[in-house]
Amino acid sequence: MQDKISHNLQNILQWIEAACIRSSRNPDEVRLLLATKTVPTDRIKLALEAGCTLIAENKVQELKEKYEALKEIPHTNHFIGHLQTNKVKDILKYNVSCIQSLDRIDLAEKLHQRLASENRTIDVLIQVNTSDEESKFGVHPNKAIELVKQVSELSSLKIKGLMTIGLFSAETEKVRTCFRLLKDLQQQIISHNIPRVEMKELSMGMSGDLETAIEEGATIVRVGTAIFGQRTYPDSYYWNEDNA
Ligand SMILES: *Cc1c(COP(=O)(O)O)cnc(C)c1O
Repeated sequence: MQDKISHNLQNILQWIEAACIRSSRNPDEVRLLLATKTVPTDRIKLALEAGCTLIAENKVQELKEKYEALKEIPHTNHFIGHLQTNKVKDILKYNVSCIQSLDRIDLAEKLHQRLASENRTIDVLIQVNTSDEESKFGVHPNKAIELVKQVSELSSLKIKGLMTIGLFSAETEKVRTCFRLLKDLQQQIISHNIPRVEMKELSMGMSGDLETAIEEGATIVRVGTAIFGQRTYPDSYYWNEDNA
């Protein structure tokens, strides 16, 4: 199993590098994040031991269940799932350094309240729904700049960039439109010069579309299936409002 995971990892790292070279980018600009939903801790450990350092869960419950088993191995935890407001207190117990899925002001305010009372800060990315699919979370592109401004007023939240899930489509050019939209929003936000807002990170691209995402400027690609294999749960379990 170690062989399989490290083999897949080597492949992905090579894809990333090739995509960087094709688009005249430095491979050091793109970080690989492992999306570990449904993956048991023994397999996550193999990936960490093979040299990955950045992982992310979609549900607070899973983060909690895996926390003890993984905490001895050095790594960084991000969060990439829909975060319910009533889970804010919980998520802050498990050493998450960045919430990539911040998509609404009431969630930001709850996080800020809690963090401020503990004298802490956390990095966040603003999740944008670039594919116009109702089944996906994220702020509408037209509302993204306003949300960034509002969140920037909350001193315990450090905005580092934007995140999106591209359209699921075999038509690369349609998927590319989503990533271009995120890049374009990033540039617009930069031009607004909003105090305390950094816009360095663009988290976009998954197993099926990471090369396109890199060509369009991704700094973090989030990969699950291509490293750990097919999941038994459909993604709708993680992405639909009904199940979130
Ligand atoms: C599951 C997931 C990924 C990884 O998807 P794969 O297709 O398995 O690579 C990336 N981002 C988010 C938000 C996810 O939920």
